[in-house]
Amino acid sequence: MERTADRIRQLPRYLFAEIDKKVQIALEKGVDVIKLGIGDPDSPTPDYIIRRMQEEVVKPQNHSYPPDEGVKEFREAVADYYQGRHGVELDPKKEIVPLLGSKEGIAHIAFCFTNPKDVNLVPDPGYPVYGIGTLFAGGTPQIMPLLKEKGFLPDLRQIPVEAARRAKLMFLNYPNNPTGAVATREFFEEAVEFAREYNLIICHDAAYNEIAFDDYRPTSFLEIKGAKDVAIEFGSLSKTFNMTGWRIGYAVGNSTAVEALYRFKTNVDSGLFKAIQYAGVEALTNPMMEPFVENLRNMYQGRRDLVVNALQEIGCPLEPPKASFYIWAPVPEGYTSEEFVSYILENTGVVVTPGRGFGKYGEGYFRIALTVDESRLQEAMERIKGVVRYS
Ligand SMILES: *Cc1c(COP(=O)(O)O)cnc(C)c1O
Repeated sequence: MERTADRIRQLPRYLFAEIDKKVQIALEKGVDVIKLGIGDPDSPTPDYIIRRMQEEVVKPQNHSYPPDEGVKEFREAVADYYQGRHGVELDPKKEIVPLLGSKEGIAHIAFCFTNPKDVNLVPDPGYPVYGIGTLFAGGTPQIMPLLKEKGFLPDLRQIPVEAARRAKLMFLNYPNNPTGAVATREFFEEAVEFAREYNLIICHDAAYNEIAFDDYRPTSFLEIKGAKDVAIEFGSLSKTFNMTGWRIGYAVGNSTAVEALYRFKTNVDSGLFKAIQYAGVEALTNPMMEPFVENLRNMYQGRRDLVVNALQEIGCPLEPPKASFYIWAPVPEGYTSEEFVSYILENTGVVVTPGRGFGKYGEGYFRIALTVDESRLQEAMERIKGVVRYS
């Protein structure tokens, strides 16, 4: 349509449209398709959360508009969680704002800080919302390549000085989607320094901060000394509690950034259903949380090991990721990531995601989401092993 605004027309081509079409065709042919494309947890929200939701949903006082700043109990639950899990003190009045899922806040933060001609630093490969939020706000994304040889951490010294000076925000995401990489404390410290030097705000996306394996437990960006002066962290209940459809998350940290986001939001949405916020309180404060999440970690860890072993058997060079529920693997020589994904789909009925969909530095990789049960995953890997060899 001619009349759509530039911001809609400039949206990047939807790389997955082509694949979706092929999946559709396969399904129509009766192929037993196994979808390892989208990272949407396959197991249900825990009972203890659902029960609280059932109690809250019938209360008439929960049916009205929620308070703009979110219900007090939810903000306090987030503060308690940060204290207990990360040893980070947060003021529930000034340093926490509930979000309609963290994607919402991530998409809107650029509207709060980025003027036309400003730059935001975004990782590539990465969750597409960082760059798109930037474009919607009229800013320019400046890519920070995430390279294997650097552990998929951006090399801050490689950022052009001119871009760093114009930059308002730097997006980071560890544990990382799509690479499964984790950040060292030293890297976070370096990022705080960099933010100070160039007077920019770090937006840390911590969606996978509870999905970690072996004895590794992710660091919150806010654990770093001085982080609260320069950073806002986005958290989500989606992946930790299998609540992707509920739409609940939060932003925490620097009070100026939190307040700006809050002010923006009061003008575009009217907050989260109160019953959902109380369910969120339950999620974060019930003593069932730790055993539930521990179980979840074990489940994904078993799936991780299954996929990594299968890929290693066919000669794919990769290390098991320490966190996230993704396997980021190189494609065999002779294929682009899109070609390889099509090859797999056409020959096995298994859907995986081409790395190119996460940016140009995603080329040469594909992503497997560990969000189907072990027997289906086993089946998928058997099929892949039947048609793929790394030389
Ligand atoms: C899933 C995901 C999110 C957001 O999830 P919400 O459901 O919006 O809270 C944010 N960032 C990354 C990297 C994700 O993978």
